[in-house]
Amino acid sequence: MFKTFNDLADRTFNGEPVTPEEALQLLETSDRDMLDLVAAAARLRREHFGMTVKVNYLVNLKSGLCAEDCGYCSQRLNSGAGILKYSWLTPEQAVEQAQHGIKGGASRVCLVASGRGPSNREVKTVTQTVEALKEQHPGVEVCACLGLLKDGQAETLSDAGVDAYNHNLNTAESNYESICSTHTYQDRVDTVERAKGAGLSPCSGLIVGMRETDEQLVEALFACGSSTRIRYRSTS
Ligand code: SF4
Repeated sequence: MFKTFNDLADRTFNGEPVTPEEALQLLETSDRDMLDLVAAAARLRREHFGMTVKVNYLVNLKSGLCAEDCGYCSQRLNSGAGILKYSWLTPEQAVEQAQHGIKGGASRVCLVASGRGPSNREVKTVTQTVEALKEQHPGVEVCACLGLLKDGQAETLSDAGVDAYNHNLNTAESNYESICSTHTYQDRVDTVERAKGAGLSPCSGLIVGMRETDEQLVEALFACGSSTRIRYRSTS
């Protein structure tokens, strides 16, 4: 367990990872100590990223119309949220949308689609979009976020020039059934592994505040970090 936030930052600079017990200790930081924690975290941020911000631009290839029931999502089955609903943009429409972001300074374009996962035909639409985008903007990075991937789809995306694949684990394995019943935590882990196996940079995050305990939040954080499952055991 660490004594001060700066001690923990120093250790992290030296390549010693934060333990699950220490992550839990961080979550117990009082309001009185919060600015000290923010200052120590800012040291790490400056070391790795300086004062720069990377701009990613998201193009929504398909919106709403999803048959899954992720409880946090406005695009889910039977959602009453007033969102735009449309099926797949054509490659020409998607490239046109992406150019707005690139002109605004984005160095990465994220191609996102709602739904459980793409068919092979839909993956082909995405690869056509990526090829057209990279032909016009060779320096731009492309990330795809299309849901659960089947065998071979990650390789097809990689071959077309996709750099990264975003697929969030969202919450701890031990909390997953409370947020979704139409697919499993393991389905999501499998897709992250497929993306990694095809050479795509895996990008995976989580959502905080879905009735998870602090222990489950730490479990999810470390699972995202390693993209493999860990089980957190409290020392108490
Ligand atoms: S699969 Fe994706 S789009 Fe569908 S409900 Fe879940 S998060 Fe929303």
